[in-house]
Amino acid sequence: MTKKDYYKTLGVDKNASAEEIKRAYRKLARKYHPDVNQDDKGAEAKFKELNAAFEVLGNQQKKAQYDQFGHAAFQQGAGGGGGSQGFRGFGGGGGFSSFEDIFSGSGFDDIFSAFSGMRGEETRRRSAPGADLRYDITITLEEAYTGITKKIQVPRFEKCSACKGTGAKSGTAKKTCDKCNGSGQVRQIRRSFLGQIVTVGMCDKCGGRGTVIETPCPECSGNGRVKKTRTIDIDIPAGVDNDSHLRIAGEGEAGMNGAPSGDLYIVIHVKPHDIFERYENDLYCKTTIGIAQAILGNEIEIPTIKGKAKLKIPAGTQSHTVFKLRGQGMPDVHGRGKGNQFVKVVVEIPKTLTKKQRQLMEEYAGESQQKATVGKGFFDKMKEYF
Ligand SMILES: [Zn+2]
Ligand SMILES: [Zn+2]
Repeated sequence: MTKKDYYKTLGVDKNASAEEIKRAYRKLARKYHPDVNQDDKGAEAKFKELNAAFEVLGNQQKKAQYDQFGHAAFQQGAGGGGGSQGFRGFGGGGGFSSFEDIFSGSGFDDIFSAFSGMRGEETRRRSAPGADLRYDITITLEEAYTGITKKIQVPRFEKCSACKGTGAKSGTAKKTCDKCNGSGQVRQIRRSFLGQIVTVGMCDKCGGRGTVIETPCPECSGNGRVKKTRTIDIDIPAGVDNDSHLRIAGEGEAGMNGAPSGDLYIVIHVKPHDIFERYENDLYCKTTIGIAQAILGNEIEIPTIKGKAKLKIPAGTQSHTVFKLRGQGMPDVHGRGKGNQFVKVVVEIPKTLTKKQRQLMEEYAGESQQKATVGKGFFDKMKEYF
């Protein structure tokens, strides 16, 4: 191995910026790209060298290592692991997958796409991951209070167990595509006013995957997945609110050809409650009391989300007074304590009275001589937030 200097290969200074390095690489790569210099063996060697240089200098971490340890650290076979971000597809088979990468942003871009009719991304068809699924579930406020495990039935595509998702009949294997030798791409030479142009297109025989199935799995017809209805236990946490989402990773549909599964999203709806309204972690309700209870005071029983509680009504309680029952609200879904219950007490004025009641009220009226006072405050009730 001869002593090389990657900076010299790219013709840049040691202090060159990432942008300058990229620009220099692109310029030279365009010049020496084997698709442009088909018969020039020297160009291909030069091109390989450019790629090797850019793979190191175009990557911040590798560049730092290179600057520190020098060339020896990056000779063939060495070079500390890590995915190279620069160039992938360079390898004897003739799949210059990054052809478009080099030209992108160079102005040549549009011309080349026009000829090839295909962009870099599309020439590499990867198997798509499985679709995400959405499942709507309705629970009661009581269930939201305690948290609950629900069994749900999810119809979905799952990885075929007979072929383990490969699509090839059990006992057989996928074969390397003989049309593209496994690269998934085929080269086509076209003539145009610019001269001879080589475009790289997706292999039609294998759909760009590089492999073909000779004996498809009979269970899944070679798709690698089958439709199944699966029962899944969903743990709904205590305190969950209406329209919350739960993401269950990997429980969506299986991907094609063994690609990863999608996720399952559970959308939780909490049924409106007969008594309580929820706002954040607090619960709100309303109760009526009699006129005598309000005047004289009383202890009443109030429903709570988990049962009942006593509420003391002090003597002289005004209508629409709000009482707070501390800690009787919903649990916080993140475990940060509990909300409160608020009870609005509305004093109900009787519309009819018995003879005796009327007599007593008249007696009371003579005793109290209450007079009306007039002032502002008509809209106060509307300003209350419930
Ligand atoms: Zn199968
Ligand atoms: Zn192929």
